[in-house]
Amino acid sequence: MQGLVTKSTGSWYTVLGDDNTYYECRIKGKLRMKGLVSTNPVAVGDRVVFELEPDQKTAVISKVQDRKNYIIRKSINLSKQVQIIAANLDLACLVVTLASPRTSLGFIDRFLVTAEAYGVPAILIFNKLDLYNKDGLEILDNYFDLYQNIGYPCYAVSAIKGTNIAQLENVIKNKISLFSGHSGVGKSSLINSLIPGKELRTGEISDWSDMGKHTTTFAELFELPFGGKLIDTPGIRELGIADIEPHELGHFFPEMRALMNNCKFNNCVHINEPGCAVLNALENGDLEPTRYDSYQSIYFNNNTRN
Ligand code: GDP
Ligand code: ZN
Repeated sequence: MQGLVTKSTGSWYTVLGDDNTYYECRIKGKLRMKGLVSTNPVAVGDRVVFELEPDQKTAVISKVQDRKNYIIRKSINLSKQVQIIAANLDLACLVVTLASPRTSLGFIDRFLVTAEAYGVPAILIFNKLDLYNKDGLEILDNYFDLYQNIGYPCYAVSAIKGTNIAQLENVIKNKISLFSGHSGVGKSSLINSLIPGKELRTGEISDWSDMGKHTTTFAELFELPFGGKLIDTPGIRELGIADIEPHELGHFFPEMRALMNNCKFNNCVHINEPGCAVLNALENGDLEPTRYDSYQSIYFNNNTRN
């Protein structure tokens, strides 16, 4: 039988079979994905082949189908092993806020670079619309301009008031969408409003909330009542990037990608080279300084880490 992995706790996997039944599965001893060293051979969103055990209740996964893409967790050590958070995504959604707590542009840009690196279309969801005053709405306008011009669709919602939730439903309908966001932005509240009856735990913001509030750090896939699937990533602070070469980083900033062909040197990394089209655009106001700041900060972090 075949199915879709909806939950992975390390040793047991929940699989939604094509017969629309959930099965608790284990994996066969030596199940490995070729070319990838990961701590988990099976991830949420994987399509798998499995066989029922004699008890007819549990099953064994015997094969993982090729993934169209996957996203890993940001590694906090230097080991080469990675943890795959989720696979086969149609859309990566970042939930952000301009107020309590405000999401930094650097955080947004790092997420977008990761999505580009994995070839997953990304959108930004600005939550807590009900809290924005006149100044806040002006900033929201600016952010919409900034990111929509680059090609990232933006949406403004209020999970609490239900504002623009129907619009968001249309966007994620019939897709497999990853929902990410740092603690306190209202991701759980938003998921609860998209899936009536879900009742994920929501809570107040605290500095240590990632450690204390969540009981699990495993991604989980939920069925959307209007069609499609949503993958929640509780407790996962940030997605990781595997194997981006410094000179390739510019490719993951779409507006820089367009400029780079005109750099004098074809191995230009747009830091201090003469004849750099990216630096020229920055000087002329044709490249958003905040985006270049993010580029620089990822560039140097990557360099010092490797
Ligand atoms: P998570 O950590 O991202 O899952 O965030 P939660 O869903 O737990 O929400 C964090 C806090 O923000 C809670 O106190 C929620 O009540 C509040 N919150 C969530 N969505 C909204 C919203 O749209 N408007 C307002 N004013 N508060 C919200
Ligand atoms: Zn350049």
